[in-house]
Amino acid sequence: MTDLPTIKLQKINENMREFLRSRALLDAQLPAILAVSKTYTAEAIIPFLQAGHLLFGENRVQEAAVKWPPLKKEYPHCKLHLIGALQTNKTDEAVTLFDVIESLDRPKLADALAKSMKKAHRRLPCYIQVNTGEEPQKSGIAPQQLEEFYHYSTETCGLTITGLMCIPPADENPAPHFALLTTLARRLNLPDISMGMSSDYALAASLGSTQVRIGSALFGERVPVEPSAAPGQS
Ligand SMILES: *Cc1c(COP(=O)(O)O)cnc(C)c1O
Repeated sequence: MTDLPTIKLQKINENMREFLRSRALLDAQLPAILAVSKTYTAEAIIPFLQAGHLLFGENRVQEAAVKWPPLKKEYPHCKLHLIGALQTNKTDEAVTLFDVIESLDRPKLADALAKSMKKAHRRLPCYIQVNTGEEPQKSGIAPQQLEEFYHYSTETCGLTITGLMCIPPADENPAPHFALLTTLARRLNLPDISMGMSSDYALAASLGSTQVRIGSALFGERVPVEPSAAPGQS
């Protein structure tokens, strides 16, 4: 029997290692692989858990709330990261479901998360999402507001911020965005740098990523449906 998840994960690691070698980055650390399982069913996820993979990402609270509690019961060591926009009225649920929040992007959310964590007696590490491309439609703190927001989140709200996350503009070379995120993380002394997806993870690895977020390269093409939408809604 072939262990397809293991082969796919090894292939991604091999591609990153190869790329780092080609750039003469011989002692660069390989980033961890966050398996982004959004839109995929538990049946697609289970083989990865069985293969020993422990790090997963979802972008919707609602979807994760259906899929993950039974999986976490079965595989209590796995870690689930929230990588999508979080509404303030869902922070209670998010804090119980997830282990890391990667999409902290505004003061109101910092307030709500701090309150929910206190209530649940659960302190989750958070990453601040940075809108490196300063795209108006995209979530994330603008780079020039990051430092102030970091201090607000840690000092005023008491949150534990361990890293930064970005999603570069779809139509641009991601390299300057990756480089910027690494510069910003080092400036704040934050160890976790979440960047790189299926199309650009090797490049992200070469520019300081400590965790790449991989969906389609592991699970296959996503079917473009909105899993939480009722039939007939768009
Ligand atoms: C979906 C998603 C990914 C993974 O995308 P792929 O291109 O399928 O690897 C990574 N990060 C975020 C924030 C996502 O929403």
